[in-house]
Amino acid sequence: MQTVKNLWDAVNPLRSPVPASVNRGMDTKFLTSVIGTAGSGKTLLTAAFADWLRLQKQDTATINLDPGVLKLPYTPDIDIRDTLRIEEIMEKYELGPNGALVMAADLIADQIETISKDIDDLNPDILLVDTPGQMELFAFRASGPFIAAELTKQPKAILYLFDSVFSLNPQNYVSNLFLSAAVYNRFLIPQVSVLSKIDLLQPKDINTIVDWSAKPQTLEQAIEEKLSGQKRLLSHNMMHAIYKLGLRFLLTPISAKTNEGMLNLNTALERIFTGGDQYTY
Ligand code: GDP
Repeated sequence: MQTVKNLWDAVNPLRSPVPASVNRGMDTKFLTSVIGTAGSGKTLLTAAFADWLRLQKQDTATINLDPGVLKLPYTPDIDIRDTLRIEEIMEKYELGPNGALVMAADLIADQIETISKDIDDLNPDILLVDTPGQMELFAFRASGPFIAAELTKQPKAILYLFDSVFSLNPQNYVSNLFLSAAVYNRFLIPQVSVLSKIDLLQPKDINTIVDWSAKPQTLEQAIEEKLSGQKRLLSHNMMHAIYKLGLRFLLTPISAKTNEGMLNLNTALERIFTGGDQYTY
């Protein structure tokens, strides 16, 4: 049975690094899945963070697991669209586009051996996984955690994205907090909470949201001041449910357009994976 302290440690990577010795002497390979609601910035962050890591001379690879995406702002090293095509699934199983996406999410699991062999061939030190646009296709189907577990046996983490523009309202922020907790509950691996697209907000608004994630009393105050009636009551109780579980999702603000915050994001991941060392050394 997980204690509250265990839960707190598990979702707060800064407190639960994998000891550096765990990864020494093996093929150093870490897997980070980027998860968030549709449009929260998963794909652009995968592209920008991979570029940033490569500039730091880190041996980085990317994999696109979204068979439905039409255009990507980067060239993935492994692309699920090379094996699964939505149009073909629609035709073969006589499905509409949504049904085909759901089916594709499950079919990825059948490809797992091929994909993990491709990963072994690439053998990067850090692999970034760009997950399907609609997060429920990965997070809330049986196949998602199976795929994440089987892609590689090496240590894994999740970057969970809070879209900053959406999160500016305390009701939306609390809803996203719940989604983030639901994702943690599905995968049970260290999770870095990212406040995405911060170039779209004023610095004072970014600070407000980051404060909500760090100091529950500031969130409580915003709920009391900005919400009323049922919205206030529900948000208040939802927030307290999260805190009662001992879950904390401290936000790391990031812009995939300006690269602001990349260093902090990487520091959070390095602490999970290597206890603070680089992945490639
Ligand atoms: P996904 O559906 O979660 O993969 O989201 P995308 O990465 O496709 O991003 C959705 C939209 O937000 C696209 O138009 C991106 O260009 C835009 N976007 C993503 N990240 C940022 C960011 O950091 N800043 C800004 N201004 N726009 C962003």
